[in-house]
Amino acid sequence: MKVLALSGGTGTPKLLEGFEGVIGQENISVVVNTSDNIWLNGLYIAPDIDSITYLFSRLLDVERGWGIKGDTFNSFEALKTYGAQDWFYIGDRDLATHLYRTHLLNKGYSLTSVTKYIASKLGVKASVLPMCNEHVEARVLTDHGDLHIQEYLVKHKLKPKVYGITFSGIDKAKAPQEVLKAIDESELVVIGPSNPINSIGSILMVPGIREKVVEKRRKGTPIIAVSPIIGGRPLKGPAHIFLSALGYEASSFGVAEVYADVVTAIIVDRVDEMEASRIRSKLGLTTYIEDIVMKDLEGKVKLAKRILDIAKELGGH
Ligand code: GDP
Repeated sequence: MKVLALSGGTGTPKLLEGFEGVIGQENISVVVNTSDNIWLNGLYIAPDIDSITYLFSRLLDVERGWGIKGDTFNSFEALKTYGAQDWFYIGDRDLATHLYRTHLLNKGYSLTSVTKYIASKLGVKASVLPMCNEHVEARVLTDHGDLHIQEYLVKHKLKPKVYGITFSGIDKAKAPQEVLKAIDESELVVIGPSNPINSIGSILMVPGIREKVVEKRRKGTPIIAVSPIIGGRPLKGPAHIFLSALGYEASSFGVAEVYADVVTAIIVDRVDEMEASRIRSKLGLTTYIEDIVMKDLEGKVKLAKRILDIAKELGGH
């Protein structure tokens, strides 16, 4: 089965590892959030793209969830000497990716082709697709001002009070042909357990992508979401904060509300049985209850297999 996933950089990649174990990389396409991307010290940083590329090339530091395992930080320490931005860590080997990506972008190549080139050089067989080629920035409106999402997450460590979130540049973005084609060719679309507002939300806001996914659903392809919220809290990060700031409940129910007009079904955790019945009765959405906290490879593979079974139940191939 050909699976297409919408992904951020932390939760969904775990599930992708599971899918890889079941269907192989060749059958996986990933549309990746780029609204966390940022220019720093003259480099174009694309954290979610790198996490997915490094995951499939076995380079990812899985414990940390970003960067290359075993990497050193000598160049980063040296940069500090010059008073450069010192809050966003880039390892020495990781720096090569950043230097070469920036070089290719400056030569005029699109983010889609640069990402494809880097992935192929690293031996990745999955298709890693940025959500768009235009620069889009998630901006978090806080009591410390209007911050780039990386400033909010990394520099300020989620401390400021959040009033809202906007996506600057999103209206000028366009779904790349490669993304539309991959959605067209998929037999199952998985909305992975990533932040529903900034990671998945921004992907679905790129003009052309939501419409394409909804069209797939209408034609009978299962669109299955996995909740990133377990018992009212994310495992990591600000999903609950962003949901509340935009007027949603910080719960699996809130996640289901965000996805209701796009998905065929949503999977929630066993601890959220009550949420599941609310989702069914109030939103009329097909809901499955599973173990969705992926603690190890076995858990990742088990969930991926279950999703493939659900897709078959729902009418996939
Ligand atoms: P970011 O790009 O680093 O912001 O990360 P993502 O948007 O990809 O993912 C963050 C979300 O992943 C958080 O809301 C977590 O609750 C969720 N998450 C992380 N690990 C798991 C897991 O094992 N299971 C589920 N269901 N969600 C997870």
